[in-house]
Order: sequence, then C-alpha cells, then structure tokens
Amino acid sequence: MTVEETQLRERLRNVEDPRLGSDIVSLGLVDDFRITAEGVAEITLAFNAPYSPDEMAMGDRIREVVSELGLETSLSVSLSWQEPDSPLPKVRNIVAVASGKGGVGKTTVATNLAVALADAGARVGLLDGDIYGPNVPQMIGVDAEPGLTEDGQLVPPEGYGVKMVSMAFLADEETDPAMLRGPMVDKLLTQLIEGVEWGTLDYLLVDLPPGTGDAQLTLMQTVPVTGAVVVTTPEDIALEDVRKGIRMFSEHDTPVLGIVENMSTFRCPGCGDHHELYGSGGGRAVADEYDLPLLGEIPMDPEIRTRNDADGPLAVLGDNAAAEPFEGLADAVTDRVGIKNRAGVAGIDPEDPDGSAAPISGSYLEAANGRSPQNGTETGPGDTDDDSSTDDGRDRPDGVSGGLDISE
Ligand code: ADP
Ligand code: MG
Repeated sequence: MTVEETQLRERLRNVEDPRLGSDIVSLGLVDDFRITAEGVAEITLAFNAPYSPDEMAMGDRIREVVSELGLETSLSVSLSWQEPDSPLPKVRNIVAVASGKGGVGKTTVATNLAVALADAGARVGLLDGDIYGPNVPQMIGVDAEPGLTEDGQLVPPEGYGVKMVSMAFLADEETDPAMLRGPMVDKLLTQLIEGVEWGTLDYLLVDLPPGTGDAQLTLMQTVPVTGAVVVTTPEDIALEDVRKGIRMFSEHDTPVLGIVENMSTFRCPGCGDHHELYGSGGGRAVADEYDLPLLGEIPMDPEIRTRNDADGPLAVLGDNAAAEPFEGLADAVTDRVGIKNRAGVAGIDPEDPDGSAAPISGSYLEAANGRSPQNGTETGPGDTDDDSSTDDGRDRPDGVSGGLDISE
C-alpha cells in the first residue's frame, strides 16, 4: 500500500454508517481500494441496496473525504452478496410482500412499491404469487403475454419499468385456484421463481398469497428471501393475523423488514386533508410490539382504487402528492434491506448493532417525511466510468446506477 493509499484508508474511517454505529472501514464495508496513476481513488464497497438513501448518502460522503485528498472518486460494488447456490444468482434482493389476510391492500402496496423503485432507477421484478387472486397484471396495466426462450424460460413482460410474471399466466382450466392443493401451488410458484428469465435485478418483489400456508413456505425454501414486508390495516382483526405472519417468518429465519399500514387515514380528494376512519396507530402498535419499523402509512385514497382498476399504479405519477407515501416506502424498504445486508457483511446484529439496543425502529417515517423529493440522480454516488453495463437493455443515464450497481 502506498503512503497515499494508507492516507485514503484513514480518510475513509471518517465515513460513518448512519445505522450500524461505526465507520465503513471498521465494519468491513470497503472491499478494495487503490489510487490510479491518474489520481482516481477506485473504491469497491460491500453495498447491496441500490437506491437506498443511506447508501447513496454514504457514497456522497466518500466522495467528499476523497476530494479532500485532491483525488477523483470511482465507486463500485463487489459481488459478495451473491449466494452461489441461489436459483436466482443475478437477483440481488428478494423481498416478499405478505399479509395476514386478503383485502388489506397487499397487491396495491407491492405494485406501487415496485413502480416507485423502478421510477427511482432500480431494476425491479414483480412476481405475482397470489394463486387465489393473481391481479397484479391488471393493477400494473400489463396485458401482454410472457415470451418464451428457446429453453422454455418465461420472458416477463414489462410495465412502468417493472418486469412482471403472474400466476395468472400459468392458470388454465386445470389450475382453477379453487381446486389447487398444496403440492400444485408449490409447483406453480417454483416455476414462476426459477422458470423465468429475470435477468439482473436489484429487487424482486413477491406478492404472496395472504396467510401462512404452503406458498409462503415454498418461497422461503426455494430462494434466499432478503426479508418480508408485512402489510396491515389499522383494524384489530387484521392485526391478529399479522402477528401470525410475523411469527411464521421468524420461525423460518426470514427477517421481517417492517410493517406497512395501509388505509391508515382517508385522503379527501376534495380538500386534500387526511381523516382518520378506523382510528390510527394499529400498525405502529404491532411494529412496536415486535420491535420492527413502521415503513410506511398509506392513506386510503380513492385515486389508488381508480388507478388500480384502470390507469396504472398511482406511484407512476411521480411528483403527485398522492404518490409520495409510496416513494417514502421505497426509501424505507431499500434502507432496511441495506441495513440487513451491511450488518451481514459486518457480522453484527442489525437490530442491535453496537450491543446497546440502538433503536432502528421508528426513524423511517420521520426520515421519509422530512425528505424532499429526489430521484436518486443528485444524490447517487454513481459517477463512475462504466456504470451502464446492464444486461437488460434499459437506458440508464449516468449517475443513476443506484449508484453502485456497476461492476458486474
Ligand atoms: P390484497 O392484495 O391484500 O387482497 P388489494 O391490493 O387487492 O388487496 O386491495 C383490495 C382493494 O382495496 C382493491 O380494490 C384496491 O384497489 C383497494 N385499495 C387498496 N389500498 C387502497 C388505498 N390505500 N386506498 C384506496 N383503495 C385501496
Ligand atoms: Mg392481492
């Protein structure tokens, strides 16, 4: 290591991980670094949550400390996240969207979250695994059929930048959901996970059927699920089911990333004000009970429903106020994924990084609410030389690589 490189490493110790209570060097998040003859600090990070505001902020901070040495920065990420035996080795993160019972808005949340992530710039897939009500294609406004590769893999159609497959694609008279029993559900779900040409994805969201049955188990046994997002409404009955769901995930060592309370308040389309219909705080209560973060509170909004039925998800609206809760949710989910991944690299408990039960919970909504709208372009740390090397043919402007999904 040159003298300059030693200096660089010391500088990088000034970059704190905002959630894990230490700096990125001590946490082992700097995989590699060198300084080129041209004065560029090439730094490889063990980050794996593209578009996570935390990770983008750390990228910015790294550039700042590097520039104090009079150097340029080139950031990339390592592939240390890859699980060699995963059936989906090119999918960085698999996030299950679950609920205790049907009708709470699970599909609405999954669809809008997917679109919000894609809108931020991430490569996103959405697997509609709800055998009993596969309505993602309708909600996302895709009526194209999937294609087929020569070796029989499904090629997912795309809507609003989201690659999507659905149980509906596989259903026919013989697979009438009412007639399906466990083993058949398993087989279909496995086919949708493994039999699809997903390409490289930052996030694959899986809209699970409600409850705690075979499909959930199949998913957890087939692929490494990064974590689950549990959707609930403020009513008590739903919350009881939610508790069951949380217990199921923890029994199978699948982290629950947090709770989303849907239909929290009513957003009056006339006055724009929020009114409480069912009382509020149910999602918060269950989050506190399990020491989980409340990732988002989505108001009941007539526009969500009408758009579900017709014009595509609300989250495509971008700068519309009604879409904001989903942007906040995307930030909270990616941050949570990031915490979990980085804690894994550092070998620490993400819920208790410094052994003193530092509260991670609760900070998301406040953070999301206090944040001004952003699309990742300004804050993305991706000002690298070769960050357009995606294999999905999508156009990705410079610096919007999440900013770190480059060295593949
Ligand atoms: P699930 O997937 O849990 O069964 P859905 O996402 O299909 O639930 O939502 C059930 C119904 O409620 C749908 O008609 C949907 O359009 C509507 N809905 C869901 N969330 C909201 C919301 N926040 N505001 C208004 N309508 C909603
Ligand atoms: Mg649904």
